[in-house]
Amino acid sequence: MAMAKEQLIENVVGRVLSLLGEEGVSSCGYEKVDEAVAAAGAAQKAWQWDFSLEARMRVVDRLRRDLLEGDVIREVSALTLEETGMGRLDDKLIKKRLAVEKTPGPEFFATKATSGDHGLVLEELSPFGVIASITPSTNPVASVFNNTLCMISGGNGVVFAPHPGAVKSTLRALEYVTRSLEASGAPSGLVTTLTQPSMENLGLLMEHRGIQLISATGGPGVVKAALSSGKPAVGAGPGNPPVVVDETADLRAAARDVILGCSFDNNLPCIAEKELFAVNCIADELKKHMLESGAFELKDPKDVGKLMELTLRGGAPNKACVGKSAPWLLEQIGLKVGGDVRVILVETPEDHPFVQVEMLMPLLPLVRVADFDEALAASLRAEHGFRHSAAIHSTHVVHMSRMARAMETTIFTKNAPSYASIGVGGDCPTAFTIATTTGQGPTTPLSFCRTRRCLLHGAFRIV
Ligand code: NAD
Repeated sequence: MAMAKEQLIENVVGRVLSLLGEEGVSSCGYEKVDEAVAAAGAAQKAWQWDFSLEARMRVVDRLRRDLLEGDVIREVSALTLEETGMGRLDDKLIKKRLAVEKTPGPEFFATKATSGDHGLVLEELSPFGVIASITPSTNPVASVFNNTLCMISGGNGVVFAPHPGAVKSTLRALEYVTRSLEASGAPSGLVTTLTQPSMENLGLLMEHRGIQLISATGGPGVVKAALSSGKPAVGAGPGNPPVVVDETADLRAAARDVILGCSFDNNLPCIAEKELFAVNCIADELKKHMLESGAFELKDPKDVGKLMELTLRGGAPNKACVGKSAPWLLEQIGLKVGGDVRVILVETPEDHPFVQVEMLMPLLPLVRVADFDEALAASLRAEHGFRHSAAIHSTHVVHMSRMARAMETTIFTKNAPSYASIGVGGDCPTAFTIATTTGQGPTTPLSFCRTRRCLLHGAFRIV
């Protein structure tokens, strides 16, 4: 008997879907919060219980290899630049490669075991479950790579909530992540993302019963929202990193490093140098070296006024200027400079908005101070108690250690561009979620796990 028409269609569709399933990749983007959380929840359970540590290690290793292969890093970097209109392509390549290569993985875990007269106590780090990770517009894809590697290494699943201005690049980056995870046999849906990250959806995500931890990377608003959710949270908030150059510094090296750090990705990183306090007796020579290293000094008060008008909106940075290049900013106020200019240098008083506001553009105010004590006091005021990042260029051991102690910042860099502290030319792992507000510091897989204790009474002391 001839097959019914409906049955035939069903068979053909089934066959096509199964063929797609063999070669295609599941979608990682969800419009509905419930669906994104449900997919990550089911996958996380399998990831936690059915995958040995060795298998987890294998999946994470392959993910690193796949993301570094071919054109992935270049494609997602170019897409981020196109979508957000912020930053520098060459630096975006460095950031993403860094996130893939230097984010710590499952090797970070070690069981703590103690034994005594009463037996054995084990303390192990266990996943929270599914993490809602809210990511910033300034490092969208580097944060996605860094958070994914950290969070799944700890046995968690993730639902990303990207900044509305970076959904496309986040989704593309996660398609590569999903393709690799599925190719190595990890549960489908382990890492998902919202495709409609409205404030309403962010609220629903944070309140969702299927979310056990919130990781919020961004400005004060998102960190406050995460901490008000009543759930455990990793809060990585804003900064306004001061850099001090004292009279004992190697001025040529200090000038070069400050320009490199301040201009990295057009000053988007939260750790990047945002204001400079220079001891008066070396300020002129320091400036001379900075001008040789890619700074352009804006001297005419009229031009400075125009730059303020362009870059500030009601005391906050004008979003249209965030992450733009120094030549672009200068062009908007009628000045043409070469493409090799990396930073706009402006001498200002300490209370100037360029000093006190986190501008996130390659615009460096230089404030002259009488001595190191004055520099330290001004740095403390400009950092606003964020306890995020600060730096010094000095060879005076006492100055270096006094500033490191007094600032109480999560990151303190001596005699290097600030980016050394996240592993670019520095001997440390990388982190794109630097948990300043909640205190986990530069995050690792351990930051996304909870400690559980298991006790065996009366046995297993072997001496
Ligand atoms: P942003 O605060 O505007 O956005 C960050 C994320 O939070 C986005 O996904 C956004 O949609 C969401 N969001 C914003 N307000 C929210 C609210 N009230 N409730 C819920 N979600 C909210 O920040 P941005 O401009 O994208 O990024 C720049 C800021 O992030 C800077 O202040 C920078 O210092 C900070 N930052 C910090 C770190 C860190 O590790 N500490 C890393 C990167 C960026």
